[in-house]
Amino acid sequence: MEGMAIRLHDLHKSFGATTAVAGVDLEIRDGEFFSMLGPSGSGKTTVLRLVAGFETPDRGRIELAGQEVTGLAPFERDVHTVFQDYALFPHMTVEQNVAYSLKVRRVPKAERLVRARKALAEVRLEGYGQRRPAQLSGGQRQRVALARALVGRPRVLLLDEPLGALDLKLREQMQVELKALQREVGVTFVFVTHDQEEALTMSDRIAVFDQGRIAQVGTPAEIYERPATPFVASFVGTSNLLDGETAHRIVGAPGTYNIRPEKIRVLKESAEADEPDRATATGTVADVVYLGDATRFLVDLDGGGRLTALQQNLETSAEDVAGYRGTRVRLAWHHRHAVRLPS
Ligand code: ATP
Repeated sequence: MEGMAIRLHDLHKSFGATTAVAGVDLEIRDGEFFSMLGPSGSGKTTVLRLVAGFETPDRGRIELAGQEVTGLAPFERDVHTVFQDYALFPHMTVEQNVAYSLKVRRVPKAERLVRARKALAEVRLEGYGQRRPAQLSGGQRQRVALARALVGRPRVLLLDEPLGALDLKLREQMQVELKALQREVGVTFVFVTHDQEEALTMSDRIAVFDQGRIAQVGTPAEIYERPATPFVASFVGTSNLLDGETAHRIVGAPGTYNIRPEKIRVLKESAEADEPDRATATGTVADVVYLGDATRFLVDLDGGGRLTALQQNLETSAEDVAGYRGTRVRLAWHHRHAVRLPS
């Protein structure tokens, strides 16, 4: 049976009148790349700090590898935290930064060097050991922080928005590298982010936080395809939430539904929907946005309501796009893509 790296039971934490964490239960498996995703203030950083031991819960229990650690100091826990600002020592070389935690633990010097160099190789920074942090790019500093965290092979690595300070291109590159590194070293990564794309790209599983609670835990596909609440549907990806009369008219049943924009095809109004299980609705294009690889249509439905549809630009060019505004269209989707949200 797979081991459990982290088990949180009924965690609560308030700061004065602010409830940061309002009853969190969570299990993270050994070797998982696990993301805690949510908007600013939803409590994810506080949960991370509780796991690290920088905060003490008001109530609840924290287990690491099956051992209760709730009252233990940070250094008594087999976890390491990587912060957004990297917190490197500016006066030390890269190698000294990476070897520092081993030095504190009185690992002999020769072994420290060997392990520091191995960790630097893992983050593809061979040959940078003698530089100082100021002589590195942002992405390289990020990797030094990772090497320093991994050198002691903690059971769990906690990462608090570690890519937040990087520009978009570098950030996307680091997402791929970080995921590859995690697979290579096999350490459990717990990654805090408010960026849903980042969480979807990197994670084995995601916990979506909403006001101090976990709204849903699942794989990226489960979270995206089967959101458990309207909040999850709209926070992760773009949503078309339908309820009341509009849902009834379009789906033919009561309840709250979500249809992802890329599941909706935009056809000519006169077009027949080609397969028997396609649902359709007609309307008028209120706005159309050319996005390069795709085009976004906002369509006002006959009878009320608005749907967003996203079409890959297979044939559409930028010149075509403006011409759609105000035109009549038929929207079509498979019934199964109108996903009912649990009430
Ligand atoms: P962000 O993405 O902005 O970091 P978050 O989801 O990580 O947000 P937390 O940092 O966990 O959210 O904060 C949750 C709530 O607790 C917020 O309302 C925040 O203001 C509050 N909070 C967190 N730490 C403290 C503190 N040390 N003192 C007072 N309030 C705090």
